[in-house]
Formats: sequence, structure tokens, C-alpha cells
Amino acid sequence: MSAEAIRSNLLRVRNSLPPDVRLVAVSKYHPAESILAAYAEGQRLFGESHVQELQAKRPVLPSDIEWHFIGHLQTNKVKYIAPYVTMVEAVDSFRLLSEINRQAEKHDRIIDVLLELHIAEEETKYGLTLDACRRLLAEGLWRELSHVRICGLMMMATYTDDEEQIRTEMTTAWHFFDEVKATYFPDAPYFCERSWGMSHDYPIACQCGSTMVRVGTTIFGERSY
Ligand SMILES: *Cc1c(COP(=O)(O)O)cnc(C)c1O
Repeated sequence: MSAEAIRSNLLRVRNSLPPDVRLVAVSKYHPAESILAAYAEGQRLFGESHVQELQAKRPVLPSDIEWHFIGHLQTNKVKYIAPYVTMVEAVDSFRLLSEINRQAEKHDRIIDVLLELHIAEEETKYGLTLDACRRLLAEGLWRELSHVRICGLMMMATYTDDEEQIRTEMTTAWHFFDEVKATYFPDAPYFCERSWGMSHDYPIACQCGSTMVRVGTTIFGERSY
């Protein structure tokens, strides 16, 4: 897609968001030139979901880009992105949380993370069920991890044309956020992020409590794998 098209797509998406919803421009499988086109329009927050790809792109791009890792992260790869990643959005086990903490400590950093919920119908999606998430938090071991900061929740709704289903899933996540906030983070202003909404459902997400949408295709075009 041309730089011009990317820039106008980006502006269209950005202008359609409420002022309190941030845009993560999902640039996976798109080249550095596409990222630069969005950067030229002021975009600084980008999402990637493959460690190798991010490692290759980051050095050739401006250093003030904030990278959110949005994909499934294997524990043995945390060490590569720990020096610079701004947020790991899809933490779905204590083991991963603990490894992010360990690597962050090595670099004298505190890494922001979101807990990924599994609410959608699809079997293949990663994430914690609501009960698994409740258990992880109730166990309390996360309180010992001083180099990660749990900033909220992330989820992907079922990929469907059924708007009501999407709305129901996102609203479930929103209510669950309120429960977790009240139980574990009432005095933590940083626990404030609800990351849901992608190209096909971000307008719905904006009505269902999202604070951060992750949009790729609508900005950068179809991905070639
Ligand atoms: C790829 C991806 C997105 C963006 O999807 P689009 O449909 O291209 O907007 C959002 N979130 C996650 C976790 C992704 O892997």
C-alpha cells in the first residue's frame, strides 16, 4: 500500500476514535517503509506479534517508537525484547509473567503488561479464562514481581459478523475488568487499560469500554504472509 494511502487510513481511524482511546498501529508483516508512513503522520505506538520480525525492524526505525508486543510470547524469547519493549499485551500465564519480570530486572526496567483473557468461542485463541485469571490473581505470587506492572486486560473477541456476540464478549471483559480493579488494584491508577478492538470490531470496542484498540489491516492493508 502506498505511503499516501497508509497516511489517510491512519487519519481516518484516528479521527473516528473517542479522545480517550489510544491507537496501537499493528504493523506485523508490513515493511519498515509502511511504519515510517504512519510515523510521519505522528503515530508513535506500534504493535508487533513476532519476536524475530520486531528484532529485525526496530533497529532501522526511529528510536522514539513505542513497541507493544501483542502476540503470543514464548518464555524463551522474552530476553530479546525485554531491553526495549514498552508493553507486553498478551500475558496468559504466571510463568510468562515471571520470566518478563526476571528479564526486566536484568535491564533495570519495569515492563508494563496486560493479562490476556480468553472469552471468545474459538478454541485456538490463547488467554486466561476468567476463572484462571481469578486464580492467578488470588494466588498473589504476582505481588512479589517488582519489575512488571499489571496495567489492565486484553482480549480478542470472536471473529464474526454477529455484532451482538462481539458486544457481549467485550462487555463481559469490561465487567471483569471492574471486578479485578475493585479487588486487586483499587489504589493503582496505572491499572486502567482495556485493550480490545481490531480492524473489524474496533468501533464496537469503543462503545464497550476499550481504552486501546489494535488496528492493522484497516491502516496498512492486507498482510502477505
Ligand atoms: C494482528 C493482530 C491485530 C490486528 O488485526 P487487524 O485485523 O489486522 O486489525 C490485533 N491484535 C492482535 C493480537 C493481533 O495479532
